[in-house]
Amino acid sequence: MDVESIREDFPILDREVGGEPLVYLDNAATTQTPTQVSRTFTEYYDEYNANVHRGIHQLSHEASVAYEDAHDRLAEFVGADGREEMVFTKNATEAVNLVAHGLGHQHLEPGTAVVTTEMEHHASLVTWQQIAERTGAEVRYVEVEDDGTLDAEHAKEVIDEDVEIVSVAHVSNVLGTVNPVRELADLAHDNGAVILVDGAQSVPTRPVDVTDLGADFLAFSGHKMAGPTGIGCLYGRRDLLEEMDPFLYGGEMIRHVTFDEATWNDLPWKFEAGTPPIAEGIALAAAADYLDDIGMDAVRRHEDELAQYLLDELAEREDVEAYGPPAGVERTGLVSFNVGDVHGHDLSEILDDRGVAVRAGDHCTQPLHDVLDIPGSVRASFYVYTTREEVDALLDGIEDAAERRDGLLASDRYHDRVF
Ligand code: PMP
Repeated sequence: MDVESIREDFPILDREVGGEPLVYLDNAATTQTPTQVSRTFTEYYDEYNANVHRGIHQLSHEASVAYEDAHDRLAEFVGADGREEMVFTKNATEAVNLVAHGLGHQHLEPGTAVVTTEMEHHASLVTWQQIAERTGAEVRYVEVEDDGTLDAEHAKEVIDEDVEIVSVAHVSNVLGTVNPVRELADLAHDNGAVILVDGAQSVPTRPVDVTDLGADFLAFSGHKMAGPTGIGCLYGRRDLLEEMDPFLYGGEMIRHVTFDEATWNDLPWKFEAGTPPIAEGIALAAAADYLDDIGMDAVRRHEDELAQYLLDELAEREDVEAYGPPAGVERTGLVSFNVGDVHGHDLSEILDDRGVAVRAGDHCTQPLHDVLDIPGSVRASFYVYTTREEVDALLDGIEDAAERRDGLLASDRYHDRVF
């Protein structure tokens, strides 16, 4: 993979922060966008901006064709059968909510259960909590082991025939763990349940194929895979989407309406009420092209190498605790850690002064941080344009923070502060 030539596609990487070259290591939150994608976005507004599915005029026709084709492109990207199985949403969170509201309300009731895991993002965890509360269903959490992997035996215990839905992150956004989705899917199916995979951290970083995974649903976000904000995707098995109730009502999603009732449009439009994210969808298809040109296997290898390098370097430091699977176990290009008792926000401020962007806090996984028994962590995450020198810049910043902490601790500055 030619990282230097990839970097030329991302003008933002040339900018400085506080006089220092930008070192962007917050890719698990949002990735940067190559000119191929931003150009596609701008072209839409400059050349054929119009509402889709509505007008008979030329611009509307061009916009509709591009927007509909974008569904096929994203379907292809994750191995789905075509546009009928690919719904565009606002983000991964909305995709999870769409399933929870549609399927959850149809299938959950007292005596039934949803199984999820202790390492879920709030996007799933809070959503299932709420749907369970409204339907009277139970939520069960597969436990996380000390090494940051899921407890496979516990999964077998909690996934029984009361379970209607299993909802699991393919990759943890804190631990980097790659979960055994295929095994969990088999367990779910053997017990008559369906499985929703949160692919927010996996689809951008490795080859993902819904058939190989055995996923009934797959949720992911455009802005984490070199695409624009404001667009997410829900892959759904066609028969399940057909059976499922819409989540949002309004224009575009109907076929026929009277004062008494309405019938629904074909898939996937039944789930896309109102004017959809047209420019975003078309630009996301360009992002899929961009990533496929690099090759998702190459993306995975690159991330893996950088993560292993950082983990090895951090292991040399006695004051650093890194979370998630140890080096050698499959994981993605993100590493969460703490440096002694340096507060994460202070560490990220010190890094920011050096131009290094990382994330500190609970990363929308408060219950997981309770399990880890830490208030928060600092997370460095990589993408196709990240270099080894940038990881070194992070390591220099950590060294700097560790040294400055010794002086600052005496003044009590770090005492009693929470993330
Ligand atoms: N799931 C996981 C694992 C994530 O990392 C994220 C984003 N941090 C989400 C869901 C939610 O993504 P979005 O905010 O784009 O909806």
